Amino acid sequence: MKAFVVTSPGTGAVAEVAAPAPAAGQVVVDIARVGICGTDVGMFHSTYNRPGRFPLRLGHEWCGRISEIGDGVDAAWLGRRVTGDTMLGCGQCHLCRSERHYVCENRHEIGVRGWPGALAEKLLVPVSALHRLPDSVTDDMGAMVEPGGNAYRAVAASDARPGSRVLILGPGTIGLLATGFALAAGSEVHVLGITPASLALARGAGAHGVWTGSDLPDLAWDSVINATDDDSMPQFALDRVDPGGRVVFIGSAHKPTTLDAQSFVRKAVTAVGIMGGSHGLRPTIEAYENGSVDPRPLIAATIGLDAVGSVLDGDFPPSAGSGPKFLVDPKGISDAH
Ligand SMILES: [Zn+2]
Ligand SMILES: [Zn+2]
Repeated sequence: MKAFVVTSPGTGAVAEVAAPAPAAGQVVVDIARVGICGTDVGMFHSTYNRPGRFPLRLGHEWCGRISEIGDGVDAAWLGRRVTGDTMLGCGQCHLCRSERHYVCENRHEIGVRGWPGALAEKLLVPVSALHRLPDSVTDDMGAMVEPGGNAYRAVAASDARPGSRVLILGPGTIGLLATGFALAAGSEVHVLGITPASLALARGAGAHGVWTGSDLPDLAWDSVINATDDDSMPQFALDRVDPGGRVVFIGSAHKPTTLDAQSFVRKAVTAVGIMGGSHGLRPTIEAYENGSVDPRPLIAATIGLDAVGSVLDGDFPPSAGSGPKFLVDPKGISDAH
């Protein structure tokens, strides 16, 4: 089968690789769509704070149809449209046993850590990680369930609800999806960003206010969600949040960040870190299905595997829209060349 293979930092190409075969408890998914995310860009260039080993097989935001099942897998799965959890815990440790498999020390992460990713025609997945997709959740939406799960968990941790005011830092994919979930929760939602195009997307998603750094109003923020990779933003979030409020950290900076621990104490702030979308995947599928959140305006373009290297390099097809998300159809050929 064809897969996008990264052979060294900044170098990758479509290659012919062995197709996966399902062991007991596993399935093979024929990939319909896979999203490219900031984690992929960071891993491609080896700037990500969890560098991978080469050759690398990226891709953790995916959906497709099950074409093969291993021993012990219910035959009803065959032919189903699915997406799945990136985080594959060992299943044995106390973290896995208490539904915290996403921080299991021995976990694999599909396309990130020790498990070949979905930028390929086929993907191997344990059946335990699968989530079924309803017909109304299209392939484009299905590939955006994984980032949606992250955004959902961030918003849930922010305690967004009617009457609360949420500030989201960073209108990238996670920030924009979080905007959707926070609005769906009934909050007043504001977004801080840099580029007019990304702020226009936030406005289009229904944000009540969109701001750049200099014009951010001095409002009482019940919660602040940091969805940037800027190392100054965690402290910014802590400085801006209302006393007794909540700060949610989901963005990951490329270098260590410092935070004044005393300001947590003096302001009685609750801080939550979000790692992965796991328990947010099911509610995200429901939100996409019932229309309360629509990820499709975030899609810039759908490309073929042949154009993945260029997009990871920041060289976007001229026809691409202003959204932050590029999707890949592994069976398609790009018109980008
Ligand atoms: Zn991602
Ligand atoms: Zn474990």
